Amino acid sequence: MSENVASLVHVRNLVKHYRLPREHLFEPPGKVIALDGVSLSVTAGRNFGIVGESGSGKSTLARLIMALEPPTSGSVQVLGRDLNQLSMPELRLARRNFQMVFQDPYGSLDPRQTVARIVAEPLSAIGAIDSNTGETLGSVAVQRARVIESLEAVGLRAADMPKYPHEFSGGQRQRIAIARAIITRPKLIVADEPVSALDVSVQAQVLNLLADLQAQFAVTFVLISHDLAVVDHLCEEVAVLQRGRIVEQGSPEQLFNHPQHPYTQALLAAVPKLA
Ligand code: ADP
Ligand code: MG
Repeated sequence: MSENVASLVHVRNLVKHYRLPREHLFEPPGKVIALDGVSLSVTAGRNFGIVGESGSGKSTLARLIMALEPPTSGSVQVLGRDLNQLSMPELRLARRNFQMVFQDPYGSLDPRQTVARIVAEPLSAIGAIDSNTGETLGSVAVQRARVIESLEAVGLRAADMPKYPHEFSGGQRQRIAIARAIITRPKLIVADEPVSALDVSVQAQVLNLLADLQAQFAVTFVLISHDLAVVDHLCEEVAVLQRGRIVEQGSPEQLFNHPQHPYTQALLAAVPKLA
């Protein structure tokens, strides 16, 4: 056990380089420094926002927190365990506690799978018994009940189970993705631009849903957005990312009313004032 069990996510000195395709035969390939020494802690119950312009490294940070990619250097701990030290079976089991929602509700759902299968998919990682709740998940009936419970929690219905993603609007598809994320009763959900692809009129509904789910399932969100209004809505703590580095961090109140860093000031100046 480590010293950081109290924190849900503990990221230390995270660095991620990507190699670029070689442009000239006799020159070494270039690299992109997507993350350049990021450290942050997320406390249970306090949603954490990450803002920054396109290309600042937000999605890379999300994928590394989810252990979908290894860091070049630095570490990611979730619930006190260094994810990159786990074996594949251990990581698979650990994934019940952290799930992800992606930006694109069209691309992130397999068009050939029914809603029931899409939403149930993370349960396969849990095994026969959910050690968080003690519930037996082996039977089809129990899994089905879980799927229905998750669909209803996001405002969908049991009758939607045999349908396919193309039968739903963008906002509903994002609800399906959110139902899939909550089905394992995770402690953490990383949502990468979850409303950016949605109509403005639908965005607030989905953000309100996330707030409801936090209350209902005691889940904490890491919410990534290029839009400061989105994180202001839901987060207690916000970090501003610029070219792979956190340049400023604080409460939304501090950041939005008294931004210290010129980059934060510029981000704010680009946001249309909300009434
Ligand atoms: P954001 O989500 O804030 O828009 P990203 O994390 O997607 O930023 O990207 C950060 C930087 O890393 C960008 O310059 C991007 O082009 C680069 N990048 C991200 N993923 C890859 C990859 N798989 N291969 C090469 N470069 C990448
Ligand atoms: Mg991104």
